[in-house]
Amino acid sequence: MGKILFSMLFLASFCFAQQKSIVLDGGVEVTSIDDQPREMDASLFSGKLTEAQKLAYMPNGKTPASVNVFLVKSGGKTYLIDAGFGNAVKDKRIDTKKIDVIFITHEHSDHISGLLKEDGTANFSAPVFISKLESEYWLKKETPNSDLQKKLANVYASRYKTFNFGDTLAPGIVAINAIGHTPGHTAFLIGTGKQKLLIAGDFLHAAALQFPEPTESASFDMDKEQSVKTRKSLMEQAEKNGWIIAGIHVPNPGWGKVKSNGKGGFILNNP
Ligand SMILES: [Zn+2]
Repeated sequence: MGKILFSMLFLASFCFAQQKSIVLDGGVEVTSIDDQPREMDASLFSGKLTEAQKLAYMPNGKTPASVNVFLVKSGGKTYLIDAGFGNAVKDKRIDTKKIDVIFITHEHSDHISGLLKEDGTANFSAPVFISKLESEYWLKKETPNSDLQKKLANVYASRYKTFNFGDTLAPGIVAINAIGHTPGHTAFLIGTGKQKLLIAGDFLHAAALQFPEPTESASFDMDKEQSVKTRKSLMEQAEKNGWIIAGIHVPNPGWGKVKSNGKGGFILNNP
């Protein structure tokens, strides 16, 4: 019975898998695809709040989340930002042949597993770009739990490439330093016109908690102090510049505009 129920829930989660597009004023199109709907547990988060204060933002001890991946169409090319678990490739919502270049926010498995097939070969013929700092960390001999990351570098071989923060990677795609979650974690600022969209990667996980309370960190944040600094700073910049923020784990489509709540936190509104 448990197994049947689990299968039904699993199927239901795919039936509700969503995607949505937005065209920015310079003509760049961004599509958010939910690779795997999920929930996150309140116990994953900690910071300055008491347990009761934290749970006030997460009734039932859980919060809805996604594993979004983003397609960016700019200058006649299609870029993929993060590859999720590969569900969107399997069910053909992403046509791997139509992807020209892939950019990765960081190398946790929920962001890179989709780059490889189940047999360990490459899912894409496009090059994969990862920040130099991120790549160096995972390719170090002594880094624990890094088999997948080392395999990725081997399989993509000459198509495995790195970039530095501040680089313009393509027309309307700039790599932004967003370290803290991982040593080389990157956000991407998208857009060729006045309107910009910041793909946040994992500098935030639980939207319901971390927009109003950016001091709360997820257990997966490798440097919690730095992750709080990055989250606050990039949310402040997003508000000041009117950027749309798009989160990988924010429920699909994962984007909105941020406004200060006057108490050190932010509110996420639809763009
Ligand atoms: Zn993640």
